[in-house]
Amino acid sequence: MQIFKTRNELEPYLDKLRKQGRSIGFVPTMGALHAGHLSLIAESSLLSDFTVCSIFVNPTQFNNSTDLEKYPRPVETDIKKLESSACNILYLPEVDDVYPQGTGESQEFNLFGLDLKLEGASRPGHFTGVVQVVKVLLEIVNPDNLYLGQKDYQQFLILKRLVELLDLPVNVIMCPIYREENGLAMSSRNERLPKDLREKAGIIYATLTYAASMINDLKPEEIKLIAIAALNSNDNFKVDYFEILDPINLEPISSDANWRNIIIVVSVIVGGIRLLDNMLIEGEDH
Ligand code: AMP
Repeated sequence: MQIFKTRNELEPYLDKLRKQGRSIGFVPTMGALHAGHLSLIAESSLLSDFTVCSIFVNPTQFNNSTDLEKYPRPVETDIKKLESSACNILYLPEVDDVYPQGTGESQEFNLFGLDLKLEGASRPGHFTGVVQVVKVLLEIVNPDNLYLGQKDYQQFLILKRLVELLDLPVNVIMCPIYREENGLAMSSRNERLPKDLREKAGIIYATLTYAASMINDLKPEEIKLIAIAALNSNDNFKVDYFEILDPINLEPISSDANWRNIIIVVSVIVGGIRLLDNMLIEGEDH
């Protein structure tokens, strides 16, 4: 695996590959890699000749300076994990390389308000930062295929829209959620959970599974109330949102309308750590 710390070295290297007709898959990450990240790399290697992974803890997407400061950065371990994966190239830049003009400037995009709800409502400016960094990374890497996790479904929708607005010839591919043994969605933030809470956090997935099983029997509002109460009944758990939505636009589904597909999204603050999860349910054709 080749490691590049600057775009000036990475760009000509990738240009050369492209001229040789090689396809490029790209997996952007913030590091502290786990099996979920590695599954995206494995997926990329199936379709693309070269897989590029980036590790960059983007300061502009954190609206909480403590969260940014405490974000885990085990770079040496990450490199070892990537070396035993199918990753060909690691882009490991400093802030100056990604933002040579500083972090202040960011273009506005019409994201249909997708950036303002759920995570966007709780973390103002978060998606502006995500869009800002992914736009730069896409300009640098110029991939054929971009791999994103369903775990951050709202982010996936927003970045798909970004690629459409920029009119880039990039396939945006969503990969399934990897989970720990108790069902907890893998996340770099899980490392910060005390052992007992990490164990207990399996209830988030159990609640999603229960909610999904009730979808034909109860109204969305009823399911939502039960789920929130069940999650909040655990010490140190505080639900930020639990919503049953249309996966295309993240709008609420009406209780009596015939639905096709549904996404149940949840964000819970567990011991001060924000945990996200979701479940997509395919409806019957009406
Ligand atoms: P992050 O490092 O958290 O920014 O995540 C980098 C990429 O990995 C994003 O596309 C995430 O959606 C994806 N990802 C994070 N957690 C998981 C998971 N548990 N399973 C699959 N993909 C994930």
